[in-house]
Amino acid sequence: MPIHAPRMSTMQIVPLSAFRDNYIWAMTAHGQCVIVDPGEAEPVLRFLLQHDLRLAAILITHRHNDHIGGVADLLEAWPVPVFGPALIALVTNPVKANDCIDLPGIDARASVMEVPGHTEEHIAFCCGEHLFCGDTLFAGGCGRLLGSSTAAELHASLQRIATLPESTQIYCAHEYTLGNLRFAQAVEPENEALKTRIAHCNALRASGLPTLPSRLGDELATNPFLRTEEPDIRNAAERHAGAPLGSPAAVFAALRAWKDTF
Ligand code: ZN
Ligand code: FE
Repeated sequence: MPIHAPRMSTMQIVPLSAFRDNYIWAMTAHGQCVIVDPGEAEPVLRFLLQHDLRLAAILITHRHNDHIGGVADLLEAWPVPVFGPALIALVTNPVKANDCIDLPGIDARASVMEVPGHTEEHIAFCCGEHLFCGDTLFAGGCGRLLGSSTAAELHASLQRIATLPESTQIYCAHEYTLGNLRFAQAVEPENEALKTRIAHCNALRASGLPTLPSRLGDELATNPFLRTEEPDIRNAAERHAGAPLGSPAAVFAALRAWKDTF
């Protein structure tokens, strides 16, 4: 591995592996770097050094330690602005729904979406066609309900993400795709797009490659948590719950509870 690779000129987005299955996303341009959800500092510091990049800003989606654990150490080396939810103490630049922020250094802008559910303060950053959504929407699945938010709130957050253009690229924070797709197949065994996607993602993982980012259009075709209005999915959720489910939000809640014990 060369110590100084050539400088990157146009914006690139690179996944940095952390812990067992986290991805820290790095947006780079003009020799600068904006980092999303650094749960660890070390992979980020190594990446900056390898590519001769300056850290320009940190974006935070929510308060869990696997997303913020590296911030303090990064700030020691690079005193940069930290954009994120106001309730996180390390955040220097609190942001809220519909804020538009200039990302320092990389000549890009991001708009903020509030996407409560996994935690109540959870936000996502939409940077053109790139959506950094933390633990809200996963490839083939969605985050667990770990705060005080309700399934209805998480469902509403995913419904809002679903209104973005289908070409939107989803940069979520964990490599959970194969496990999520196994659940999706249990829910919807006849979905042909899902079978194709599973084969594709199996091949990626067998080659040691990330399954991310994913395309929103593919999520809409295969992710059961975005398909709560499909009759097959509703029927499967009702069979598993043993009761009729009166609304897409109720189907969503039943799917989330089913996945928790899958
Ligand atoms: Zn989390
Ligand atoms: Fe996480």
